[in-house]
Amino acid sequence: MTAPPQQETAVGTATVDDDTDEARVVLLTVDDDASVSRAVARDLRRRYGETYRIVRSSSAADALDALRELKLRGWPVAVLLADYRMPQMNGIEFLEEAMDLFPLARRALLTAYADTNAAIDAINVVDVDHYLLKPWDPPEEKLYPVVDAMLQAYADEPEVTVHETKVIGHRWSAPSFETRDFLARNAVPYRWFASDEPDGERLLRAAEVGAETLPVVITPTGGTLVAPSTTELAGAVGLSTTPAMDFYDLVVVGAGPAGLGAAVYAASEGLRTLLVERQATGGQAGQSSRIENYLGFPDGVSGAQLTERARRQAIKFGAELLTTSDATALASSGWTRVVSLQDGHKVAAHSVIIATGVSYRDLDAPGVADLAGRGVYYGSAPTEVEDCADRDVYIVGGANSAGQAAVFFSRVARSVTLLVRGDGLERSMSHSLIEQISGIASISVRPCTVVEEAHGIDHLEKLTLRQLSTGAVEHVHATHLFVFIGATPHTEWLSGVLERDERGFILTGSDLTVDRRRPPGWPLERDPWPLESSVPGVFVTGDVRASSIKRVASAVGEGAMAVTLAHRYLAP
Ligand SMILES: Cc1cc2nc3c(=O)[nH]c(=O)nc-3n(C[C@H](O)[C@H](O)[C@H](O)COP(=O)(O)OP(=O)(O)OC[C@H]3O[C@@H](n4cnc5c(N)ncnc54)[C@H](O)[C@@H]3O)c2cc1C
Repeated sequence: MTAPPQQETAVGTATVDDDTDEARVVLLTVDDDASVSRAVARDLRRRYGETYRIVRSSSAADALDALRELKLRGWPVAVLLADYRMPQMNGIEFLEEAMDLFPLARRALLTAYADTNAAIDAINVVDVDHYLLKPWDPPEEKLYPVVDAMLQAYADEPEVTVHETKVIGHRWSAPSFETRDFLARNAVPYRWFASDEPDGERLLRAAEVGAETLPVVITPTGGTLVAPSTTELAGAVGLSTTPAMDFYDLVVVGAGPAGLGAAVYAASEGLRTLLVERQATGGQAGQSSRIENYLGFPDGVSGAQLTERARRQAIKFGAELLTTSDATALASSGWTRVVSLQDGHKVAAHSVIIATGVSYRDLDAPGVADLAGRGVYYGSAPTEVEDCADRDVYIVGGANSAGQAAVFFSRVARSVTLLVRGDGLERSMSHSLIEQISGIASISVRPCTVVEEAHGIDHLEKLTLRQLSTGAVEHVHATHLFVFIGATPHTEWLSGVLERDERGFILTGSDLTVDRRRPPGWPLERDPWPLESSVPGVFVTGDVRASSIKRVASAVGEGAMAVTLAHRYLAP
């Protein structure tokens, strides 16, 4: 391929490869070695010059100036390639500042072999997508695949294709909260307008709808939805809700870490894979404000970020993802497994992986159920962070998830109180998290304390707390209560189909053979494999599996392992 003729102009002090003024998407490269900078730009131009505008710069400061000017001109930036070793400001610092200007641009660091560690650090610090070792010859093998992947990731960003969804609702309305939570957890960008503020009132008037039934959602194409169901909402914002085919090699139910892990491995290994998710990709992990113990992320990673990457990865490999699709039944027809969805669709497959995880148990105290979504939230509900500013936040639970939430909310709240039924955190929370909490002055821990009652008319206003050791009762003013207590598995729909333990977790492998007897109805001349349920070819991964380790890493690992077993099952 030959490079288009080069007619250079300037953006600030940076060089642009053409002299037109049309708003083409930009690929920017910065390297203080002018010859390297020219070489990168040349290689980029050769492959991408006809479609994209290539901007190059030989210092981080110049590149930042160029980005500011691009912002003013309204030219989008898709890719940033920055040299690591630059004087004054290194590549990581540059990318960090560049992210403020173009948060959607995908980022790569150019490094020498000796700087590989710095590049790996960068993946955590500034969420760098790739690092490229210099030299990158031949570009067809070392540079273009990386840039192609970055361009694809950029194009897949919902904000790039979908401009803006507007949600007009009431702050203390449960349906309004559910809509915002759903959009946020599915990484759909939206703007929130309170229905009783001027902008919200204006939008309601423009859409010709009253404020009686909220929320009202205005889609980027101008469509209006009044109090939509999550399925309507998913369809309107471009999330897929119905399967494209009737038959797959593998259906994975649940898109938490275990299901995402399975989908990535299955699709990358060529299996026609359908991933069915009832709510939002990420599962519980998507609610974690900071996962500190996942391999390869020494500075931690937010659950939303980790699972969003996994979602993109699964789709990139060709997995089909259905959102707001609730699996309601599993049946066998000979060697075919059939999963029914709540909308009436049935999908058949050679093999099925159940990865439906667990969710928090309801807090059983008077008043709590009525105020759910109106001050009482299950999980960390990141959409509520802004509303917690300078308020007193209460969190129920003594495990790591509650501790992480306490740290997360302490950044904005006036005070955070952890209400713990047990006599302390030591038995239920990791040592490092306990230390972190004890170092934050605004967090206090109240052991042996339970919520006796929640009070409020429109929204949560007050809690009655009971001290278990003394029996003393106290009323506290509270607007936000986040609940993180024990978990129950999502397996009601499998009752009578798969063997479960007394708490509903699904039995697999050797747990199914009692006194060397295989499970009732087991048709094969072999024992169930590890992760295999009481129905051959149906595998179970992650938190929903009896005696599993409740961790992101083990869920992902089991997802990968189940795919290998599914292969073995498909080709005995
Ligand atoms: C706040 C919080 C913080 C955490 N922090 C950490 C941490 O720091 N480190 C760590 O290792 N672990 C952490 N965990 C635990 C970790 O998130 C879980 O172990 C992990 O998410 C389990 O993954 P999973 O895929 O098995 O299940 P889940 O994450 O529970 O995902 C299951 C998915 O299945 C979907 N689903 C359920 N039923 C159906 C159905 N019938 N049809 C379709 N879809 C269905 C659900 O909507 C959900 O998306 C944390 C958990 C929480 C809640």
